[in-house]
Amino acid sequence: MKEYLEKLPQEIKDLVYLISDTACREDTAVYLVGGFVRDLILGVKNLDVDIVVEGDGISFAEKLSVRLNAKLVSHKRFGTAVIMVKPHLKIDVASARNEHYPKPAHLPIVSSGTLREDLYRRDFTINAMAISIGREAFGRLIDFFCGKRDLFEKKIRILHNLSFIDDPTRIFRAIRFEKRYNFKIEPLTLKILKESVKLNMLHKVQPQRLREELILILKEERPLVYIKRIQALAGLDFIKPGLCLSKKTYQLIGSLKKQLVWFKETYPQKRPIDEWLIFFIGIIDSLTIKDTQAICKKFVLRLGEEKRLLLYKEISRKFILNLCREKVRPSEIFAGFEPLSYEILLLLKAKYKGKAFQKHIKDFFEIYNGMRILISGHDLGALGVKPGPVYQKIFSKVLNAKLDGIVKTKDEELALIRKIAKIH
Ligand code: ATP
Repeated sequence: MKEYLEKLPQEIKDLVYLISDTACREDTAVYLVGGFVRDLILGVKNLDVDIVVEGDGISFAEKLSVRLNAKLVSHKRFGTAVIMVKPHLKIDVASARNEHYPKPAHLPIVSSGTLREDLYRRDFTINAMAISIGREAFGRLIDFFCGKRDLFEKKIRILHNLSFIDDPTRIFRAIRFEKRYNFKIEPLTLKILKESVKLNMLHKVQPQRLREELILILKEERPLVYIKRIQALAGLDFIKPGLCLSKKTYQLIGSLKKQLVWFKETYPQKRPIDEWLIFFIGIIDSLTIKDTQAICKKFVLRLGEEKRLLLYKEISRKFILNLCREKVRPSEIFAGFEPLSYEILLLLKAKYKGKAFQKHIKDFFEIYNGMRILISGHDLGALGVKPGPVYQKIFSKVLNAKLDGIVKTKDEELALIRKIAKIH
């Protein structure tokens, strides 16, 4: 595999050679593994360098992090560590391990193991290859389960028949890799996958683990394709029994993607969007507030995520109808949209296609959201207004006047606060 390693971008190649050099110095067997090897062979960029150490992975990671002068976070219980080389580049270090599942769908019991055992515990053949980068045979591919053949034949294949029973989250992983690389889940794997769905295996997994896999899927480039495949193969009962996406919801999800592209292209300077959350809200769009609350609880969503979800759900028809009118004062648009997050605004923009509504959202992003007043607390103090909550009220009145074009210059703002100050 030397020729593949040679083709890596320089900063990753340098890193691989430094890991290799450290392995030689420490006389330790170290291997590149997992998604990194898969993507190396496919020629896909991957900035997560995944290595397995036969022996003490943490001790190796400590030495490596000193040489790299990089931050290290280790998890002694699992024998793993992460080295943050640069904000966009990290090394995952693991000690080779053996896993066995005492109960289906539960977390495995882990013990130290050989490289072969470590590769055998993995999800699919394409993710179960290793490349030696230690002193012995630098660049040799270790492929016990014919992963390279499956890569070239574009197949997702499990390593043993109990794979989905041991860990049903692999159902989502199979779909994720199938759709990401345009592969096919091979027939026997597909049959076993369907059987494990019939056995209700997804219901036996801790929901947070399903959430994590679902989030990864919703962060992929074309989430709609993946969601359709999940519905077809596994159903969406794992989110809410009976949940089945209609054509309308699929259209909404398709439209969400378009809105996201539009937003990122139009406003590259605005804060990044939680894209997965938008798609997740899209998926459960047809559910009631009560069901949504139950889902937040079940999947243990973060407070900020739950808040946005419920805020979206609570938006009333009256609110929408009001903002669908052509003539709405800018201050009204601001008051309506400002408390909502960008995520919700994009959801609304995808859902309500009326011309006026679309224009109001665009105007909000383009003009009103960034509008600032020129007066400050200092100006209010100079007028003898005592500091307190009243300041906020006055600022808000001035901002509304500015949004509606009633005041434009600082002098006009000052004239306005003089008027208001008299009242207060
Ligand atoms: P991505 O490109 O999406 O990051 P990845 O293959 O690198 O994909 P990770 O979730 O980072 O995926 O996992 C790294 C490796 O760990 C995988 O390639 C696979 O070998 C193994 N792995 C991860 N999750 C599982 C699982 N649930 N069961 C078995 N092996 C797994």
